[in-house]
Amino acid sequence: MESYTVYIHIPYCKKKCRYCSFLSTTPDSNDLDTYIEAARSELKLYGPFLSGRRVKSIYVGGGTPSLLDSRQLKQLLSAVYLSLSVEGDREITIEANPESASLERLKSMHDAGFNRLSIGLQSFDDTVLMSLGRLHDARSSFSAIEKARNAGFHNINADIIYGIPSQDIGKELDGVKALGPEHVSFYYLAVEQGTPLSMDKRFTPLNDEIFEELYLRVHEEMVRMGYEHYEVSNFAKKGFQSVHNMNYWERGDYLGIGSGAHGFFKTGLPWIGMTAQARYENAYPPSAYRGKVSGNDGGSAFPISRVEVLDRDAEILEHIFLSLRTWKGIDTALVKNKTLLKHLTDDGLIRIDNDKLSLTAKGMCVMDGIVTELF
Ligand code: SF4
Repeated sequence: MESYTVYIHIPYCKKKCRYCSFLSTTPDSNDLDTYIEAARSELKLYGPFLSGRRVKSIYVGGGTPSLLDSRQLKQLLSAVYLSLSVEGDREITIEANPESASLERLKSMHDAGFNRLSIGLQSFDDTVLMSLGRLHDARSSFSAIEKARNAGFHNINADIIYGIPSQDIGKELDGVKALGPEHVSFYYLAVEQGTPLSMDKRFTPLNDEIFEELYLRVHEEMVRMGYEHYEVSNFAKKGFQSVHNMNYWERGDYLGIGSGAHGFFKTGLPWIGMTAQARYENAYPPSAYRGKVSGNDGGSAFPISRVEVLDRDAEILEHIFLSLRTWKGIDTALVKNKTLLKHLTDDGLIRIDNDKLSLTAKGMCVMDGIVTELF
């Protein structure tokens, strides 16, 4: 039976961080309840179309899903189980931010059935957290993981951002070492146009050389701590790679639920009469999404606002880019310019093993250039 993953987007946060370009807004008093109701209705719509297939992971992200209380969490997960067919041994992740991750809230997440927690720590330094406009401090970064352990989580991811001028990367690595989460996502700060951070004249993004230096240091020290560097920005202890994220990188099918969520099915989107492989995006903001799900806007009950059909060329290019992000790499048969392989290997940018080409950590820093030269 073919499997797929489910992503549910919670587009609400207490306050917008200064660097944030994600789809999120601050909720009014009843927003969370009405939103959960709409997500439940959307899940029900997919039931008849996906009855022959199994869900292999569920991921509730945002936004800040830790704003949901115990009742809302249970309502959301039970709607997934009632509408879709979920594999017994599956990964069920929820994202949390330290300021809304009280022990009680974390316990209610665990009781609701979540078995993996992804915490947006971002840094162990108060100055860095303040410059990013985060609502928590370094002490809460440390205590959040401890509370998560006490709440029963044994599979924890910590998100860390780096690339902030004046940030001491050693301090972030020491924090990771002290807490030992099973999985760490080290993201390089992307300064997106239109965010308050992009308009801050005191903030100058780091140049490429410094980026490479930081990237290689993070790689070396994380590997020394026993983590596998299995994707450009992701590190895991043995056996703790994210099932959900690997599915994206392997171009597996995924269902996106909620305002602004994306979905992708190689077999098409039969619920809107499409047979070609396609990606879709749900309506945003949440009011537009709720309107579509309830049919109030006179349109389809599926809250889809945009569809992108992928032809064979787009499929191959996506496969190359996504596969090269991971340590699994791609078949050398796909390489057009084979004369460069020796040169790139000698420069320590790629490795070839059993006809599989993968990037080294140094190669990951210049991935776009390598793809342009080889394919
Ligand atoms: S918590 Fe995450 S989604 Fe929410 S505003 Fe901050 S960066 Fe954006």
